[in-house]
Amino acid sequence: MEVASTVAEMRAIRRAFTGDVGFVPTLGYLHDGHFSLVRAAKEQNEHTVASIFVNPTQFNSPDDFERYPRDDEGDLAQLRGQGVDAVFMPSAGEMYSYDPLTSVDVGEITERLEGEHRPGHFRGVATVVAKLLNVVQPTRAYFGRKDAQQLVVIRRMVRDLHMGVEIVAMTTIREADGLAMSSRNARLSAAEREAALVLSKALRLAAQRWQGGERSGARIRDELQALISGEQRARVDYVSVADTETLEELDSIEGEVLVSLAVHIGEVRLIDNITLPSQMKELL
Ligand code: AMP
Repeated sequence: MEVASTVAEMRAIRRAFTGDVGFVPTLGYLHDGHFSLVRAAKEQNEHTVASIFVNPTQFNSPDDFERYPRDDEGDLAQLRGQGVDAVFMPSAGEMYSYDPLTSVDVGEITERLEGEHRPGHFRGVATVVAKLLNVVQPTRAYFGRKDAQQLVVIRRMVRDLHMGVEIVAMTTIREADGLAMSSRNARLSAAEREAALVLSKALRLAAQRWQGGERSGARIRDELQALISGEQRARVDYVSVADTETLEELDSIEGEVLVSLAVHIGEVRLIDNITLPSQMKELL
């Protein structure tokens, strides 16, 4: 496995690949959610590239950036074990070596949900993903549904800018008890880890209500809010029942709907979501 820390090194590695290239961009501190993306990339392409880059421009507070868990050596060992061909692991200085003037702004879909609570987050995400795609030039890039809005934003950017890459969406991988795998879970205490189950419980409730015929967005939002409020360690950022493309809140549900939440458990902010009805079985 080759490890590139500069853009020039990554480009040189890329030039030597002849077949399809699958790309898995990550912030590192890897878990089975990331590895499911790696496995899909390996299955569908001749070559697989992963990136590990804790991108400072997508964090809202320097504190959150500093506290993001990191384990470069452990991650590299795992990626080697998975049979990844190359890892791009640049420093912030390499990615932003001078003050760039260009950024990617994907418009109103970045202002809702996560964007409303994390101003500038998606400009940071879209810009760094565009840069990574330009360096790695993959045939396919793999993203998790765990970050549902990120997926919508990236798909839109790729379409709007005619970027020649196929975006592949992968199912959310969960712990046995339902908690969505996340690098941030490592920061939960044992009591908080238990409390964090309220996110998947709330989504399960949404799925049950949908299955029972409920089609009012407001009633589903209220029920989920009430359930989460019952957990002492939880503080809701948002509960959303929205259109899967525009991310606008829905009053009445027809067709597919994205139910998503962001909840602080102690000092850790967690997100989770489910698309109904297509992903219903994942939680019921
Ligand atoms: P991150 O390192 O958190 O930026 O995640 C890198 C990629 O892995 C993103 O496309 C995420 O959506 C995806 N990912 C993170 N957690 C999971 C999970 N539990 N299941 C599936 N994909 C995930």
